[in-house]
Amino acid sequence: MSKKILAIAEARDGNLRNVSFEVLAAAKRVAGGGEVVAAVLGSDAAKYVEALGQHGAAKVYVVTNSELDTYTTDAYAQALRQVVDAVQPDAIFMPHTAIGKDAAPRLAARLGLGLVSDAINVELDGDAIVFTRPIYAGKAFEKKKMVSGTAFATIRPNNIPAEEAGASAAEQVDFTAEIKDLRTIVKDIVRKTAGGVDLSEAKVVVSGGRGVKSVDGFKPLQELADVLGGAVGASRGACDAEYCDYSLQIGQTGKVVTPDLYIAAGISGAIQHLAGMSSSKVIVAINKDPEAPIFQVADYGIVGDLFEVVPLLTEEFKKV
Ligand code: FAD
Repeated sequence: MSKKILAIAEARDGNLRNVSFEVLAAAKRVAGGGEVVAAVLGSDAAKYVEALGQHGAAKVYVVTNSELDTYTTDAYAQALRQVVDAVQPDAIFMPHTAIGKDAAPRLAARLGLGLVSDAINVELDGDAIVFTRPIYAGKAFEKKKMVSGTAFATIRPNNIPAEEAGASAAEQVDFTAEIKDLRTIVKDIVRKTAGGVDLSEAKVVVSGGRGVKSVDGFKPLQELADVLGGAVGASRGACDAEYCDYSLQIGQTGKVVTPDLYIAAGISGAIQHLAGMSSSKVIVAINKDPEAPIFQVADYGIVGDLFEVVPLLTEEFKKV
């Protein structure tokens, strides 16, 4: 049976995040020829309609309330609830980003739905949607089959490939949500890290651990990341030692990344760190201790001093 799937898109700094297209691809996979409806929030949301249409949305709900220009759980949950009521989808997919992780449980509670969090795959089994998600800090995977009711899932970035952009014939549905009694208003956003490539969506991540030894020790890692068009990440060890900001932390209590290439420099490979990066497609570990556990998950291991190895890699990649 064909299904109607609501794919919630996310924009940041005036651009749609790539995971929005991945969420649309996930929706198309299980729609069974049915309708994929996108929703995008914020006063400039209309400018994203074409791109969402090019990636598979038949209709785009444009929710232009100004209260949605900066994220708050309350405003998003209120607006999205009204969109869901209007669309009446068979399933709702949302990016597993900081916003998705925060808003989805609140929305699920308001809708009285269960939530499959952090899905890395979606497929149809007959008429049921089956989600795959990592458990036990990425050591195992479980499959959840939604046999009845509205399915609701957040989709981990960089796992379900976005489809190539095609022609857009998306219908724009202008939607004004009734947003009231907000308990939180964001007055200002202070960025701790400057621009650059978004860590959660980066195709290449160069991460440093306690072995980096200082704030300055991250500079060679940043240079390598720049040459590769990637982002810098960190272990909690490096964050706790105040070598870098916690916004860079990767792992169980940090960000989860799935880049094409993950370079771990001076990171021992604690299970809590692996939880955030072990699904990376290719893992390169640089560590001076040949017994470091990170080598057990690495595709390529370099035993050596990161302060010698990383600049050499940077020089070589510059030649490519
Ligand atoms: P270390 O374990 O100290 O490793 C440093 C490594 O650098 C060593 O292997 C050493 O051989 C190598 N090294 C030193 N100098 C050099 C050099 N010059 N060149 C090359 N290699 C060198 N950790 C996370 O990362 N993310 C999380 O989300 C996270 N969540 C946690 C949640 C909980 C509840 C708990 C209890 C812990 C969590 N941790 C997390 C912490 C985790 O257990 C480890 O303590 C942490 O990952 C260690 O960081 P590290 O690998 O940088 O440091």
